[in-house]
Amino acid sequence: MKSYDFAIVGAGVFGAWTAHFLRRSGASVLLLDAYGPANSRASSGGETRVIRMGYGPDELYTRWAMRSLPQWSELAERTGRKIFHNTGVLWLSNEADVYLKSVPNVLAQAAVEYEELHAEEIARRWPQLRFHDVTYGILEPTSGLLLARAGVQALVRDLAGSGVDYAQLAVEIPRGDGKLAEIQTGSGESIAAGTFIFCCGPWLPKIFPGLLSDRIFPTRQEVFFLGTPSGTADFSPPNMPVWLHRTHPGLPYALPDIEGRGFKIAFDTHGERFDPDTGMRVVAQSSIDHLQEYLRQYIPALKNAPVIETRVCQYENTWNGDFLVDRHPDFENVWIAGGGSGHGFKHGPALGEYLSARILQDAPAEPRFLLAAKQTAQKRAVY
Ligand SMILES: Cc1cc2nc3c(=O)[nH]c(=O)nc-3n(C[C@H](O)[C@H](O)[C@H](O)COP(=O)(O)OP(=O)(O)OC[C@H]3O[C@@H](n4cnc5c(N)ncnc54)[C@H](O)[C@@H]3O)c2cc1C
Repeated sequence: MKSYDFAIVGAGVFGAWTAHFLRRSGASVLLLDAYGPANSRASSGGETRVIRMGYGPDELYTRWAMRSLPQWSELAERTGRKIFHNTGVLWLSNEADVYLKSVPNVLAQAAVEYEELHAEEIARRWPQLRFHDVTYGILEPTSGLLLARAGVQALVRDLAGSGVDYAQLAVEIPRGDGKLAEIQTGSGESIAAGTFIFCCGPWLPKIFPGLLSDRIFPTRQEVFFLGTPSGTADFSPPNMPVWLHRTHPGLPYALPDIEGRGFKIAFDTHGERFDPDTGMRVVAQSSIDHLQEYLRQYIPALKNAPVIETRVCQYENTWNGDFLVDRHPDFENVWIAGGGSGHGFKHGPALGEYLSARILQDAPAEPRFLLAAKQTAQKRAVY
């Protein structure tokens, strides 16, 4: 069988963008996925993801999001698929929100456009929303949302055109230590490569149980699509941006109706532990009741809106939300990238670029991404 310079296991957003950058160096690359690129079990599956530049005081992720957005746009141009929708991202909170109050400083330093808004201005511009607890907001007019499944699938098609091989195969747990020569698949193939990269998202604890079962915590996350009132465009761009309602303890966020799929709304708090292979992806009636109570209070125009589609996805959280990008401690030629922690999608290009520079040029490591920085108790700090 052909031997590759790189075999990448996992064709989600992290694996696909890593394949892109490694292939650009001229290397031979094989990309594998057990269920297919951005499949419905993967964390990169589903319709849409938010891309915003604000990360509170955290300049690292602001810079990574800024680095990533033009690469998503270039991918869209290359593939002829609209991937980025410039809907704007509206942060909604109050003056006591230290995280949000630190955003303007970071965005100003990074030369990202933003507007600070007060209650009357928010109520005037978006009368469909009734955020009576919101007194302060920030609008990022150049941010918006990315098409998730469509974006990753367009990227994998683009990779095939640039010479990356793709195969739908399930890789078994690698055994041994030192230099890994081959990986085995569930259907009996052996795959040889100089370097192996595991971008297995919420499956990482299954493929490296000893190392990661208490360092990556997959949690069940429910997403709802609501049918908006007929004959109005109040919940579509440009009338409706992406918004994040930070004063509410459930951390609700919403994305406007895109491609007619409905108004997407979810809560960013972590759900219970979830198995990405076997978990049933059906939302609970109690979650619908909870959502409807929220709509009655904050978006009366949608209080009777039907739920027209639901999804159950999973976050693959590290202890604090920082990504995991490091070499496997037992194998000199095995790398791991994951821990997107509910905010990783937008950063796919920056992550792929970072990881390929770590591997190809021994570029300096960001200490926050190293295995040694990963603790075993969940204490979310990155939002
Ligand atoms: C509901 C929800 C909302 C989110 N919202 C946002 C957002 O608004 N903005 C944002 O930036 N991020 C968001 N995220 C986070 C983001 O989507 C994830 O962090 C990101 O998609 C993770 O990508 P990944 O490539 O690491 O993992 P995945 O997409 O899960 O890819 C891993 C792949 O590995 C494959 N695989 C696993 N094991 C094997 C094996 N043994 N052999 C072969 N293949 C294997 C799987 O089939 C899968 O395709 C959200 C996530 C969820 C679930």
